[in-house]
Amino acid sequence: MSDDLVILFQNIGLTEQKAKETVKNKNLAPTLEKAIHAAGFQDKASDKSTGALLYALASTITPGAQPHLIYLARVIRDSKLTTTDQVSAAIKFVNDKAEIDEAKFNEECGVGVIVTKEDVTKAVDAYTETVKDRLVKDRYKFFGMFFGGAKAIPSLKWANGGDIKEAVDAKMLEVLGPKDERDVIVKKKKETKVETKEAQKTEAVADASKAPDMFFEGELSKLHVPGGNPQIKPELMVEHLKATGGKYVTRFPPEPNGFLHIGHAKAININFGLAKAHNGICNLRYDDTNPEAEEERYFESILEIVKWLGFTPSQVTYSSTHFHRLYELAIELIKKDKAYVCHCTGEEIQKHRGGPERGPRTACVHRDRPIAESLELFEKMKNGGFNEGEAILRMKMDLENGNPQFWDLVAYRVLKSAHHRTGTEWVIYPTYDYTHCLVDSFENITHSLCTVEFTQSRPSYYWLCDALEVYKPVQWEYGRLNVANTILSKRKIAELVNKGHVFDWDDPRLYTLPAIRRRGVPPQAINNFVHTLGVTKSDTVIEVTKLDTFIRDYLNDTAPRLMGAFNPIKVTLENLPEGHEEMITVQNKPKDPSMGEHSIPFTREVWIDGSDFREVDDKDFFRLAPGKTVGLLNVPCPITCTKVIKDSNGKVVELVARYENGTGIKRPKTYIQWVAESPKHGSPVRLDEVRLFERLFHHANPQDKREVPGGYLSDINADSLSIEKGAIVEIGFWDVMDRWAKTSETKTDYEAMRFQLTRIGYFCVDKESDLGDFRSHGDRSLKESVKKIILNRTVSLQVSNTLKK
Ligand code: ATP
Ligand code: MG
Repeated sequence: MSDDLVILFQNIGLTEQKAKETVKNKNLAPTLEKAIHAAGFQDKASDKSTGALLYALASTITPGAQPHLIYLARVIRDSKLTTTDQVSAAIKFVNDKAEIDEAKFNEECGVGVIVTKEDVTKAVDAYTETVKDRLVKDRYKFFGMFFGGAKAIPSLKWANGGDIKEAVDAKMLEVLGPKDERDVIVKKKKETKVETKEAQKTEAVADASKAPDMFFEGELSKLHVPGGNPQIKPELMVEHLKATGGKYVTRFPPEPNGFLHIGHAKAININFGLAKAHNGICNLRYDDTNPEAEEERYFESILEIVKWLGFTPSQVTYSSTHFHRLYELAIELIKKDKAYVCHCTGEEIQKHRGGPERGPRTACVHRDRPIAESLELFEKMKNGGFNEGEAILRMKMDLENGNPQFWDLVAYRVLKSAHHRTGTEWVIYPTYDYTHCLVDSFENITHSLCTVEFTQSRPSYYWLCDALEVYKPVQWEYGRLNVANTILSKRKIAELVNKGHVFDWDDPRLYTLPAIRRRGVPPQAINNFVHTLGVTKSDTVIEVTKLDTFIRDYLNDTAPRLMGAFNPIKVTLENLPEGHEEMITVQNKPKDPSMGEHSIPFTREVWIDGSDFREVDDKDFFRLAPGKTVGLLNVPCPITCTKVIKDSNGKVVELVARYENGTGIKRPKTYIQWVAESPKHGSPVRLDEVRLFERLFHHANPQDKREVPGGYLSDINADSLSIEKGAIVEIGFWDVMDRWAKTSETKTDYEAMRFQLTRIGYFCVDKESDLGDFRSHGDRSLKESVKKIILNRTVSLQVSNTLKK
């Protein structure tokens, strides 16, 4: 059955690999199957673009639009919808509709509207005339605004984003000529040499991973252009533009109360990526307004991970830097009669909010107290005159509003905890609702991007900026990235750590970013993964195995191959002389000379992998068995097993074989890997531990009580970690380490020593290894000082599926 599905999915242009993954996706597969049948591609292949649109339809359709799936698939088949923007518009249009008015549908979704490249060029030409002065003055710095403006041209609503960008680029070149020294963005010159090198390295990761296309299509392409967002007073925009020069300014604002996880990789890519795509800037902002949960190690880890992913914050900022300014503004808010000190308890506040059981919403008795009284009490709060819970400052918003975000949110609370940066200076701290929009405003953020659960907060965000008459950024929400088969919640991970189910927060079985990093996953693989998800408003749940595909793809192109063996068995080649030694040159990656080569010894005694020998042969086994001939990878002649030596328990301990260097031996069917015994060359390299990881939870949604009634702790896979001891690897391993030692800046990023163990999987060095003096000197002659080598399996070569149904 699932084979048929794989073929069906290939009909619309998916690769075999992708088709197989899609079959496993329980949500997507049935929808896609139905769409393909509806469009009539069950027995024939669609053209590529139709296929891509059907895929986009199935993967983004909302539950409310599902009843119209067949209709939409047919419209795509009939080429009435030709871009993903149109497909999104169509989904939106039919969502929750019982019947579809075709004329309206056609109009809303741009059916039949064809915008050719020439149309685009013409429209962009005309638009250029209206902004020419600005273009000539600001030159390439004007790109973001120019492009944004072009996209907003009504006749280009259904044009391809790529065509618009092409036309804009061409126009800029025509008007301005190529970039010259006027277009160089001057950077501050404080950096030391080492930092510059580091910056180049991170730039390289970012460049390799940048996918600007995603910022120029779909929802993201419809964002406003800096300068285009209305303000309560026009002069605020003038000030703002003066400060930013019209640049895009974004920020990634983690709360430093835990380690970042895979979901944050999406947030990081979107914030840094959007800014970069428009030549703008992105800050890393620690949203550190809750002293109780914050710890030094989180601050450090967050910055390190952002850089590791390849992004360089334009500035590292802290909400706490603005505590004074926030406090001053709170006073101003009280003076405007838009905030008051309140003494209600949490329970009382709940009661006032009303509801089916609690009756109508009501104001509390403190709401109308005189301004002077609130001012005095707020001062008292600040001076420690209240205990925690005795007083709060609330914004006086709109109790009549249907949105709970208007029901007098808390702006300040008393917290008698020392703060990581401000020590004991404050005993009152601002809330997220109060702080976030104001700090966005102070930092002149143009696009405040956040996840969809903040959609309801958007009006209250705007309310506060307007109430204080400060510059108001635009908030825009995107869907969260959730990953199945794992847990991302800080509290739950803490429990896993505390109860000893995992080593620590960076245990490679977890999906925190430090854990993924430690497992050896290259940052580019994560970025590539995030880019293919695109940016939409819907939350996505992705199988962890989906990320594995990106890891394999990236490592396949970049990781050198080494031979090695688990459970090694020694094979003595009886007809070679004692002390025989040949050096053999092997390519780091077969058929890819650009990856270089290295040499290894070939001697009279070699080790092979335990699984490559079978004492009892069978017709489906092509590797080594008594009397059988097999090739050794990279070695000129094959070997034939002549004798099996066992210990007193009957266990095979050694094999004797003949090296077939005479004439008349046929090419063997199969080649196996091997490692020579050669103390002189330090071969084999003995590995103290190889850690193999499987998924940590059996079920897709371990925290879902319906799926796992016993709770996620009951769902832990007892075999998620296995440790192989006694494995060996060839001396090409030292080349991997040498290269690392020469390029590593920090000498702590052991996970960057990555390679493929031929036919087994991709591995990296774990941070618990003890590399002795080698670590700091990177000199191969110091390999004797390496005391302990632990490897992590980053990913196996094959897809494994052990999910419980
Ligand atoms: P969590 O509750 O998982 O710890 P959070 O929202 O509290 O997440 P923050 O540190 O406050 O985490 O988040 C920093 C930024 O990252 C925010 O803009 C947030 O919206 C975004 N973010 C957090 N989790 C995800 C996710 N799963 N997918 C996409 N973006 C996310
Ligand atoms: Mg948070």
